[in-house]
Amino acid sequence: MKQDKNINLQRVYQICTRCVMDTTDPDIYFDNKGICNHCHSFEINQKNHWFRGVEGERKTNQLVDEIKKEGIGKEYDCIIGLSGGVDSAYLAYWGWKHGLRMLAVHVDAGWNTEMAVKNIENICKKLKIDLITEVIDWDDMRALQKAFFKSKVVNQDIPQDHAFFAALYKYSTKNKIKYVLNGYNISSESALPLAWRETMQWTPFT
Ligand SMILES: [Zn+2]
Repeated sequence: MKQDKNINLQRVYQICTRCVMDTTDPDIYFDNKGICNHCHSFEINQKNHWFRGVEGERKTNQLVDEIKKEGIGKEYDCIIGLSGGVDSAYLAYWGWKHGLRMLAVHVDAGWNTEMAVKNIENICKKLKIDLITEVIDWDDMRALQKAFFKSKVVNQDIPQDHAFFAALYKYSTKNKIKYVLNGYNISSESALPLAWRETMQWTPFT
């Protein structure tokens, strides 16, 4: 059962008997075997939606068929977000392997590395994927990002994440493409406990 935050401040140190999470997360709680709520959440929320092996392949093929069916008579089957990082690069390869006709959308929010740009070029050239690059006004992005630093919001990716998704949906609407695919790692992204996301422990820039 979840304990009160005020009580947690005085609690003795405890670490999960199954994973590495401990009482540095003030909201953590344990069952009678010492297993934490994050482990239980993984079993209930993530693991039940994480299909691997034969079942994963079956679901994947089913989805690919749906996407292709929707794309009949259109120039593209789907849009993919392409950052030049490993998740979206793999997604592009995955789509190519399954014969999807993809329109790649890349958003340059001012943080691109040379390697990311090179990766995008190579991926689109070798896999023959059409690419749209949306360049965000750097002065606007810089001002917004600075405001996020000053506000001590933990998730500093919010400005560029919003720009990415806004662009993806803009081009999906404009080109009447129903499916928008994104590279996302279910095992590692957005994994921080809620209490660690709320405040920052460092002094903001002035
Ligand atoms: Zn645990």
